[in-house]
Amino acid sequence: MLFFRCRPRFRVSCLVVLAAVVSVAGAPAISFADEPRPDAKTLQATEQEAIRGVLSREQQASYTPQQVLSNLLAGNRRFVANDLTQRNHSQRIREAYEGQFPKAVILSCLDSRIPVEDVFDLGIGDIFVARVAGNFVNEDILGSMEFGCHVAGAKVIMVIGHTHCGAVKAAIDDVKLGNITPMLAKIRPAIEKGRPFDGKKGSDNPDYVAHICRENVRLAVEAIRERSKILRTMEADGSLKIVGAYYDLRSGEVTPLQ
Ligand SMILES: [Zn+2]
Repeated sequence: MLFFRCRPRFRVSCLVVLAAVVSVAGAPAISFADEPRPDAKTLQATEQEAIRGVLSREQQASYTPQQVLSNLLAGNRRFVANDLTQRNHSQRIREAYEGQFPKAVILSCLDSRIPVEDVFDLGIGDIFVARVAGNFVNEDILGSMEFGCHVAGAKVIMVIGHTHCGAVKAAIDDVKLGNITPMLAKIRPAIEKGRPFDGKKGSDNPDYVAHICRENVRLAVEAIRERSKILRTMEADGSLKIVGAYYDLRSGEVTPLQ
């Protein structure tokens, strides 16, 4: 993409050009809803090809948001079964040099036990990954998601919380420490405005921590829709799916949240 291929001293002007070209502000979202869809056999072949090599523009365009979501969850099943695809990373680096056509944006916690590409059995060029402790959204994350979906064509946004999240536990404990304090303040709404919980409310209660982790994901998904007109519009016209999910540190399984 233009954004990533600009040399540093030209990057600001490239961004200006990019903004002018895509006319993000107020522009209608890119719609793939009316494009013809290949049949199931062709799609299966496309997916096999995509697993082997780096995603092309045509492969990205051939997916519906639901197919991308299904592919992510199928990849997660391979991860859980320790059946990850062997990829030629050197070849993929060379193939991806000219451009990128990822199929999803994943927002994950910083936690080192969630290797996002592996979790979905994916590799170079397959997904955008944004990470911040507590997997909340802010202006920068929203801008990154708008770039990933509206400009670069990704079809799914998935926000992944996880079991035993240390950032959520620290927010529950209202920890005060350096820049961690304002960071945790962005998780506090899940505690203060989340749905009610019956039981002991403390970081030492795993059920309560799990409840807040899920509320935190739910509020992040809501915030994406509320705070990004671009992404809200894309979801409304069917060219994007925004979902919350929960990762189990013990099993490696990703479960979509309702
Ligand atoms: Zn975490």
